[in-house]
Amino acid sequence: MARESSRGGAKSPRRRRAVAVGRRRIDEVGEFAFLDRLLPLPGPRRLVVGPGDDCAVVRAGGADWLLTTDAIVEGVHFERDWMSPEQLGRRAYLVNASDIAAMGGAPRYCLISAAAPGSFLAADLLAALRGVAAAAAADGAVVAGGNLTAARELVLNVAMIGSAPAHPLLRSGARVGDLLFVTGRLGDAALGRRQLRRNPRARGVAVHRFREPEPRLRAGAALARRRLATAAIDVSDGLLQDLGHLCHASGVGAVIEVDRLPMSPQVRRVGWRLALAGGEDYELLCAVSVRNEGRLRRLAAKLGCPFTRIGRCVDAHRGLRVVNARGDDVSSEMGGFDHFRRDAKK
Ligand SMILES: [Mg+2]
Repeated sequence: MARESSRGGAKSPRRRRAVAVGRRRIDEVGEFAFLDRLLPLPGPRRLVVGPGDDCAVVRAGGADWLLTTDAIVEGVHFERDWMSPEQLGRRAYLVNASDIAAMGGAPRYCLISAAAPGSFLAADLLAALRGVAAAAAADGAVVAGGNLTAARELVLNVAMIGSAPAHPLLRSGARVGDLLFVTGRLGDAALGRRQLRRNPRARGVAVHRFREPEPRLRAGAALARRRLATAAIDVSDGLLQDLGHLCHASGVGAVIEVDRLPMSPQVRRVGWRLALAGGEDYELLCAVSVRNEGRLRRLAAKLGCPFTRIGRCVDAHRGLRVVNARGDDVSSEMGGFDHFRRDAKK
């Protein structure tokens, strides 16, 4: 959760009208409306990019740093029998590293706050924490400390510090006419989660993609270094939801062509809605000006990282549309992942 501050140098995001909270429950207000109500927070000048982007950017010791935090919660993001404790730890690290990737940075330090029932096996908790540390080490990052507290369900929260590139990728720079690209494939993780819900011992590519997402750190860093993207975000809550954040921050609309969505044959069989709204893909979505398309394709080949063109940015008043091959609008009733929606357990 971060929002770009007016001192960030980039265009300030247009403000949505704040909703009244009154005596309503969080699941009645909704995750994103709640965050809009909370923000912006007042901040000192050291805050280069404040709440509203994938990470905050802070200035300290003559350098810029990326800050982010995210939790995985039993019963919301996973069930305990869906993966090993080590995989849980890795996942807690990777979902944070993905936000660092979305800004073009590199993970450096993390803190782990674990909450677990007293009955939880100490060896399993150790294994989970070692999973975090091993994933960090693979990226050249270290676990600098943490905290353990009692709770009814298992929660692993990671707070991460990353080094910032000279020009961090922000959600806010996309312009009308820019092309929209996404890395990798969409929908596998959502399909994997669905399979695990039916059978916790399920195996296969989709389940693997759910258990062990691969944040696009190299691709994000290369995009930032070459200043190839006008805006970027990681796809954590579903393509449409995250595209909505990018469009909102940039003050543009978008048209997505469903026939262009990169999907595995398995996901294609289930349907493109899974790729649009499934969530937890941890791929990068970016906007690129038309004149840079060739450079992006050369970079993709060099990195061995597929970038698929899925649509383009249009005028804000046209909103966010999804069209099929005939050009028919098929976007009605599509949404992403709001943690407090009552049907959030998908
Ligand atoms: Mg993100």
